[in-house]
Amino acid sequence: MRIPLFAANWKMNQSIGEISPYIEALSSRLQKFPGQLGKNYQVVIAPPATHLQAMGAVIGGKGLELGAQNCGHTASGAFTGEISPKTLQEMQCNWVIVGHSERRHIYLETDAMIQGRLRGAFENQLKPIFCVGETLAERKAGKTESVVEGQLLVLKELKNHLTNQDWVIAYEPVWAIGTGENASPQQAQEVHAFIRKWAKSHLSGPVAEKTRILYGGSVKPDNCADLKRQPDIDGFLVGGASLQADSFGAIVENSLKIRS
Ligand code: PEP
Repeated sequence: MRIPLFAANWKMNQSIGEISPYIEALSSRLQKFPGQLGKNYQVVIAPPATHLQAMGAVIGGKGLELGAQNCGHTASGAFTGEISPKTLQEMQCNWVIVGHSERRHIYLETDAMIQGRLRGAFENQLKPIFCVGETLAERKAGKTESVVEGQLLVLKELKNHLTNQDWVIAYEPVWAIGTGENASPQQAQEVHAFIRKWAKSHLSGPVAEKTRILYGGSVKPDNCADLKRQPDIDGFLVGGASLQADSFGAIVENSLKIRS
């Protein structure tokens, strides 16, 4: 049973002062929903690394989970500017986004670096939200599946972790991120089904069945329900629309009405 997961990626936005009102508003909204947060569905908030401590103090006991937006490949060492996955764990942060398209395309993180970060996350008991997705040029050239498959290949050497630990994949077409143009439910479902099929043949049947595949890219309160109706869409990674508690809460609410 894959319970829905909703992750908010704040990117480099919001002030520390905005954390408390946001969490108060979100959690009072979530309390009114049917189903139990943490049991029937999960909500992860990934603020900037500078906000994790303050966010951790505010979300305690509310059923919300804390995520980071990236992590280093190892627990410690001479890696200026990197964030230790071990320290994230110590901060009660249990999720981490890895391979986000902004890391791949703006900061030129390679598949090898992303594989290292995934390993660092797993070895320190963090649950990765592993992002994959094609650019518009790649889609137009008919390369969506080959690009996504190329990104998925890093998982092959991590099979033990993938079998024994919790983690999720986020399909985020680069052309849909922050553009206001979401993938259609059919476009998203096609790629999600492809990813699950790939996982079945290259990882294992049980891993493919249990692994949640989130969709990300311009998800909003008014387009999430049709996306959520797709059989292989198990939740969302939300950027822009997660910055307001109202719109993120509405995405969770409208999605939960479809399937729990
Ligand atoms: C993201 O950056 O992960 C994302 C999905 O952004 P947005 O929702 O703004 O498209």
